[in-house]
Amino acid sequence: MGSSERVHRFIAEDGSLRAAALCAPHIVSQMQAIANMSPLATIAGGRCLLGAALLASRQKDDRLSVQFAGNGPIGRIYCESAYDGKTRVSMENPGVDLPLKNGSFDVSGALGIGLLTVTQIAKMHSQSYKGTVIIKTGEIGEDIAFFLQQSFQIPSIVALGVHLDKNAQVNAAGGVLIELMPGHKEEDVLRLEQNVAKSRGISDLLLQGASADDLVKEFTGDKVIKKIDAAEPLIYSCHCSKERVEKSLVLLGDKEVQALIDQPDMAEIRCDFCGQTYHLSNDDLQMLLSDTSVH
Ligand SMILES: [Zn+2]
Repeated sequence: MGSSERVHRFIAEDGSLRAAALCAPHIVSQMQAIANMSPLATIAGGRCLLGAALLASRQKDDRLSVQFAGNGPIGRIYCESAYDGKTRVSMENPGVDLPLKNGSFDVSGALGIGLLTVTQIAKMHSQSYKGTVIIKTGEIGEDIAFFLQQSFQIPSIVALGVHLDKNAQVNAAGGVLIELMPGHKEEDVLRLEQNVAKSRGISDLLLQGASADDLVKEFTGDKVIKKIDAAEPLIYSCHCSKERVEKSLVLLGDKEVQALIDQPDMAEIRCDFCGQTYHLSNDDLQMLLSDTSVH
C-alpha cells in the first residue's frame, strides 16, 4: 500500500510550467497513528508532510526540512523529506484541538503567527540552503507558495488536502505543486489564476478519487502536460538512535539530566518522530552528566 504512494512529476509541452503531485493517504495516516494525533493535528501535520514531499521532489538528491514555528497551540511542526522518499514529522502538541472555523478545521489558528523555515541539504556536498518567511495564511499550501515566491521568485500554486471520515480516519490526502518556469508568459499566470478560481476544493477532488494526473489537470486546464517520471515511494522513516537521544539530553544540560537521575523510575525517552522509546539507566545518565560538567 505505502509503496504505491509517490510524487509524480509533470512538465508542460510548451515549457511554461512544471508540476508535481501525489495522493498519499497511507503515509499521512501512519503519521497520525505514531503520534496519536488529534484530527486538527492530522490535517496540519499531513499538509506539512505532503508539502515537504512535493518540495523535496524538485531537486535530485535533495533532503529538506520544513518548519512552521508559530505562537498557536499546535506549537512547532517540523517535517523532513528526502528525494529518496524518506519522510518524518514531529510536532509539539499533537493533541491540539480548536473549535471549527466556518465549518473547517482551524489550521491557521492552530499555527498562529510566526515563521516558516525551509532548509535544503544537498546529499553529495553538504551545502545547504535556508530560507525563512512569515507564516502568511497558516493554511500551509499557500505559505509554501509564498516561500517559493519570496525565496526563489517562482510563481506557484500549492494545494494540499487531508480529509478525515467521521471516525477521524484519513480517507483522502494529496497535493499538487505547479510552478511557472523562467520565460513563462503573462497569459500563463492569468490562466493559472483562472483555473485556481474555478477549481473545486482539493479535498473534494481527492474524495472523488482524483489521481495525481487529475490534480495537475485541474489547475493546468487545457494545456498539454506530459508526465516525466515518478519519485521513489514515500516511506515514513526515522533515523533516531539511543546515541542521538543521549546527545540531545546533553544539549538540555546538567539540570535536566540530574532530574532524570533523581526520579525513581528508569528514564524513558520517546522519539517525537517515530514513537520509539529509549530506556536510559542511571549509569547511562551519570555518563552524560560527566560529559556536560566538562564544559
Ligand atoms: Zn525516531
